[in-house]
Amino acid sequence: MGKLDNRVAFVTGAGRGIGAATALRLAEDGARVVLADIDTDGCKQVIADIERAGSQGLAVACDVSNKAAVEAAIQQAVDTFGRLDILVNNAGVIRDNLLFRMTDDDWETVINVHLRGAFLCSRAAQAHMVKQRYGRIVSLSSTSALGNRGQVNYSTAKAGLQGLTRTLAIELGPFGITANAVAPGFIDTEMTRATARRQGFDPQERIEAASKVIPVRRVGQPRDVANVICFLASEESSYVSGQIIYVAGGPR
Ligand code: NAP
Repeated sequence: MGKLDNRVAFVTGAGRGIGAATALRLAEDGARVVLADIDTDGCKQVIADIERAGSQGLAVACDVSNKAAVEAAIQQAVDTFGRLDILVNNAGVIRDNLLFRMTDDDWETVINVHLRGAFLCSRAAQAHMVKQRYGRIVSLSSTSALGNRGQVNYSTAKAGLQGLTRTLAIELGPFGITANAVAPGFIDTEMTRATARRQGFDPQERIEAASKVIPVRRVGQPRDVANVICFLASEESSYVSGQIIYVAGGPR
């Protein structure tokens, strides 16, 4: 018996990185998982891993910033698996630049994917969760919410997700739904490797440099974040809501 047997999860940006690790981790605990991504190619490998772990996955093409696509994807999840218990708002992009060089498009793309995406997915998912009187919503914030040079768009979106999380907790708590956020620090994924390459650094050297200043003396792996999400997605966390858990190998 897994602690998520009979639960259905919807994970955005599940084709790689933290989303892929989370989809697999939830499946290992028994959940059936809908993997939503703008490009579902990466989801196929994750679904093979999920099936090897003894559960089921479904890949759905969905741009989380598109209202019609989100509503259709959530409906497809419920039509396929009969319910929806867990939403993980994970899909993300970065368009880093100093403020004076940041374009309108850099700003809007990041705000739309992270903030509008989490809003649209949470609104569509809660309709089913409220009827069930049960739900778990976990969103991906970041240590960048505390402020980060070159990330005024991303930092604003990740801070906004903290406000969204606390407000969802207040509004949805009476219906058996909790809302929490995880705020990772440096996690080794394509997002951080691409940032290093764009800045002219070797990703491995970046990891080694970061490891020297992180209190636990290593960078995070996607599974480190997935483990915390899995707890927040379970019944064991039913008295934890509106919280932001930093997963950063130190306080921030
Ligand atoms: P990643 O490796 O870049 O993966 C992000 C996934 O989201 C990709 O599969 C991407 O699809 C998908 N995606 C992008 N835009 C989308 C959209 N509009 N609709 C649906 N899916 C979309 O990133 P990651 O490092 O795993 O990050 C996952 C989350 O954790 C993000 O919210 C990120 O901000 C947050 N986070 C990461 C770190 C870190 O150090 N890595 C730290 C703090 C917070 P494509 O590949 O097709 O573009």
